[in-house]
Amino acid sequence: MPLVINLRHLDAHSLRLEGQLPVAELDIDPHDEVIQLVQPLEHALEVQKLEDSLLVQGRLQLNLECQCVRCLKPFRYHLKLDGWACHLPLQGEDGVAVVNDCVDLTPYVREDILLEFPRHPLCDPECRGLPNASIGRSRKASGPGKTGADSSAWAELNKLKL
Ligand SMILES: [Zn+2]
Repeated sequence: MPLVINLRHLDAHSLRLEGQLPVAELDIDPHDEVIQLVQPLEHALEVQKLEDSLLVQGRLQLNLECQCVRCLKPFRYHLKLDGWACHLPLQGEDGVAVVNDCVDLTPYVREDILLEFPRHPLCDPECRGLPNASIGRSRKASGPGKTGADSSAWAELNKLKL
C-alpha cells in the first residue's frame, strides 16, 4: 500500500493510513554496507488537512539488519518513531507535489527514517569488539602489572641494600 493521500478524500474528514510499505517502495539507500533493509516499513498515520497544509502524525517502525561495527556480529535494529509528525505546506515554494489531487508521503517518511539510522551500529552499547581486539586490550592491561613487578624488584634491591 503506497503512502499516497488523495486530497479530495481529506476535505470532509481526516484519513488514517495503516499498513506496510515494501522496501522497494521506500527506496532507501543507507549508503552504508553495515545496514540493510529487508522488512517493510510499518506505519500507522493520521492525515489531516489544515487550511493550507497537511498534518501527518503517527507511528513509523522499521527493522534494520545491521552488522556491529565493533564485533561484526549481525543483529537487528528496531527503528521506531512513535510520535512522528510532519507538516506539509500545500502551496508556495516549499509546497508538496500534488499529482492528480494526490500527495505522496513517501519522500518525507524516507527522509525522517534515514535520519534515525544508527551512525555506528553496535550490537550492544557495551560491545567489546572482536576477541582479538580484547586480547590486545588485556596485553595493554598487563602493562601496569609489569611495572608492578618492576617495582617489587626495586623493593627487593632496597632490602638488599639494607
Ligand atoms: Zn558487537
